[in-house]
Amino acid sequence: MRAYSGEKLCGKCFQKSIEDKVRATIIKYNMFKPDDDIVVAVSGGKDSVTLLHTLAQIEKEFPKASLSAVTIDEGIKGYRDEAVKFASENCRKLGVKHTVASFKELFNVDLDALVNALKEKDSGRSGGLSPCAYCGVLRRRALNLAARNAKANKLALGHNLDDEVQTILLNIMHGDALRIARVKPVLEGKHPVFVQRVKPFCEVPEKEIAFLGYLKKIQFQSVPCPYASTALRNDIRVMLNRMEEKHAGTKFTVFKSIEKIRPALEAITKQTTLQKCKVCGEPSADQICKPCQMLQKLGVCAR
Ligand code: SF4
Ligand code: ZN
Repeated sequence: MRAYSGEKLCGKCFQKSIEDKVRATIIKYNMFKPDDDIVVAVSGGKDSVTLLHTLAQIEKEFPKASLSAVTIDEGIKGYRDEAVKFASENCRKLGVKHTVASFKELFNVDLDALVNALKEKDSGRSGGLSPCAYCGVLRRRALNLAARNAKANKLALGHNLDDEVQTILLNIMHGDALRIARVKPVLEGKHPVFVQRVKPFCEVPEKEIAFLGYLKKIQFQSVPCPYASTALRNDIRVMLNRMEEKHAGTKFTVFKSIEKIRPALEAITKQTTLQKCKVCGEPSADQICKPCQMLQKLGVCAR
């Protein structure tokens, strides 16, 4: 039973309801055109793998569109190798072309080495950025490069309703309220070389994706990343889940509230002019882009 809507659904109707919800989200936010070249960012975890299965089903109706998948191998020993296997296996079953791009080949360093450099730099002091902060910035760049290489014009991400709402609250708690304007279902490409990112699962709760994966017998990695932060995001996740249990629909309410105020936030958010990064040549708000700044800080030369 869906506490937030009161619906009682059998397995078959539940599956159909998610597929309908995703179709409605795609239409509502104008995510895809019938002839788009879509690449799905598949990490090997439940959200991205289930998204791949759902989009493979939907895109069958659009013969002019193409669907492929990309996995970023950050270089996390004992973790990412298994996730890549799950991603490849699911792509093989669905007949979807799959490519893997690694931090090592793109940035000349893997995440494990970066974390070691980070520890040395920080010399045990706290207050530095977490591995996830570095990983997130580099993965966004890696995904854009990989999507561009795949000649895709849309990059589909498995972010779900919980992810979106957590990020909104995280921005507020970090005192960066204007960043909320950037948490949205379709991120416009501010520059021709940015492949547009879309989030077809943005209105599907995490629990429902897990249940859909279970019903469809989808295989995915369930072991968490060894660097997964136990900090603020996790506390927000726990708090939101408690709220949802007591007050069904809380997550949707937060999501919809932000939808209402986003235009006002966007209107007061300063537009940045992009220039070419002096190191790598990618578009950047500053003379040196964020990924290059991070790599330089840790004494790693970007390629
Ligand atoms: Fe990267 Fe953090 Fe995710 Fe691990 S948990 S893959 S370090 S962002
Ligand atoms: Zn750069």
